[in-house]
Amino acid sequence: MKKDFYEILGISKNADAAEIKKAYRKSALKYHPDKNPGDKEAEENFKLAAEAYEVLSDPQKKAKYDQYGHQAFDGSGGFGGHGGMNMDDIFSQFGDIFGGGFGGFGGGGGGPRRAKGSNLRIKVKLTLEEIANGVEKKVKVKRKVQAKGVTYKTCTTCNGQGQVMRVTNTILGRMQSASTCPTCGGSGQILDKKPSEADGQGMVQEDETVSIKIPAGVVDGMQLKVANKGNDAPGNSIPGDLIVAIEEIEHEFLKREGENVHFDLYISFPEAVLGASKDIEAINGKVRIKLEEGIQSGKILRLKGKGIPSLNGYGSGDLLVHVNVWTPKTLNKEQKQFFENALNNEHFAPSPEKSEKSFFEKVKDMFS
Ligand SMILES: [Zn+2]
Repeated sequence: MKKDFYEILGISKNADAAEIKKAYRKSALKYHPDKNPGDKEAEENFKLAAEAYEVLSDPQKKAKYDQYGHQAFDGSGGFGGHGGMNMDDIFSQFGDIFGGGFGGFGGGGGGPRRAKGSNLRIKVKLTLEEIANGVEKKVKVKRKVQAKGVTYKTCTTCNGQGQVMRVTNTILGRMQSASTCPTCGGSGQILDKKPSEADGQGMVQEDETVSIKIPAGVVDGMQLKVANKGNDAPGNSIPGDLIVAIEEIEHEFLKREGENVHFDLYISFPEAVLGASKDIEAINGKVRIKLEEGIQSGKILRLKGKGIPSLNGYGSGDLLVHVNVWTPKTLNKEQKQFFENALNNEHFAPSPEKSEKSFFEKVKDMFS
């Protein structure tokens, strides 16, 4: 014997439309499959409640039911037995019952999600100076935006929910899942009116100058995101993002290695012997350094804090000056005589002291 529709919803025969709706809402939330996974009885009650509401919310069907009971629909309206409604029908009711508040259940999330436009991608080339100091770059991007005068209306496929519910039979029982509405693409809205220049989605392309603040210390290949400066999407949506890929322009004299920069300094043999003042190419202009007399080729001078600032804002790397003594490739007679004399002079024989570490030991130190 089939249960009475009024009994199923727990209301009296005198209940008005608002009470019926309220009672169904309560039952649907109580017996919703998401809340009662694997519970066959809850699922059955869920379907019964939906069936009861389907009939009692329709004045004509309600009048018939009041007069003839379940027999009114036996064999004719498809409400003869349990499962007369499929889950898709039930879920499609929810748009009306729960309105915009249909969130929090139904395949996780539910409810109209604001569609997001696609991302735009650009490359920005930066000099080492710009990387070291941070820079604000203005770039021109072609963005898709909603045309002036375009209007959108609620999508009828999903009732503005942006999603449609699917129920599939699996070995674990009936599984319900939400998928993006194929008609509106998830925005819950479709095109209503559009100006002639707009495309099929009511969009036009516009040039926009976007200002990008690039912090000091960025690295080649890094991607920055400028929120909401990508393409817009139709309807009640939020724009995608502008993805900015950093490209570092190679410096003429400086080689970057993380936060440190390296500079190869070439000095003459006499400068190495006598000592010298040299101008070093640093990131923000020249820096004068003093070389002590008798400086060895391969020595690395460290200028603290003259490198690239760290991206997280804590300190800067160093400028490492590699000293290279330039050996003359040709000599005149007199010069040749000088070096020939020096060749057999013990004073010119190499005698590295312990403090003068080998190149490999210096490198080890740099990274320790
Ligand atoms: Zn839709």
